[in-house]
Amino acid sequence: MALAAPASLQAQFRFNTVVIDAGHGGKDPGTIWYHRVEKHLALDVAKRVETGLRAMGIKTVMIRRTDTFVELDQRARLANKVPSSIFVSVHFNADGKDFGKNGAEMHYYGPKGLYLAQRLNTAFDKNVKLGCRMLVQRKRLVVLRETKAPAVLVECGYLTHRTNSWLCSLTTHRQAVANAIVAGILASRAK
Ligand SMILES: [Zn+2]
Repeated sequence: MALAAPASLQAQFRFNTVVIDAGHGGKDPGTIWYHRVEKHLALDVAKRVETGLRAMGIKTVMIRRTDTFVELDQRARLANKVPSSIFVSVHFNADGKDFGKNGAEMHYYGPKGLYLAQRLNTAFDKNVKLGCRMLVQRKRLVVLRETKAPAVLVECGYLTHRTNSWLCSLTTHRQAVANAIVAGILASRAK
C-alpha cells in the first residue's frame, strides 16, 4: 500500500481542464505483444477519456490525436501551457520476463500525483475487470517530473499477460478503462 496523501489536497484540485497524453506514437510504437500495439491502444483509450470528460463538462487538451511522435519534454511543455489543469498519460504495460504480471498501475510523482493516483486506483478496482495492482512512485519519468500540474501515468494493463492483453484488445474493455479514468478524475476534483 502506498503512502496516504492527505485528504486536504482535494482543495487544490480545482482544475477545469484535463491534459490527456496518449503514450508513444508515430515512429515510437511502444510495446507490441500478440499483434497488440501500445500506441494505438493508448490513443483509443485517450479519445474515449476525452469524450467522457467532455460529456461531464470538463475541458480537455490532447497531446496527440493522431499517430504522431511527440518528444517527452515537448509533452510536458505543452501541458505546462494549460492553466488550471491536471495531466493524465495513458500507456499499456509489458514485462517480457514475468508473463504472470497483470493489472493496471498508477505511476505518479509527488503528493498531488499520489492523491490523483489513489482516486484512479479506487475507480479501477470498482470498474475494471483487471483492477489496479499497485501505485508506483516515479522520480525520473519526464512527463511526470516536468509537468507542473498534478500528473499520473496510467499503465492500463499488461500486454504480456494473456488475459490482460486479450481484454485490452476489446473495445468494451477499453471503454470500461476510460470510464474508470474519468471516474477517478471526477473523484479527485474539489467539491
Ligand atoms: Zn508506454
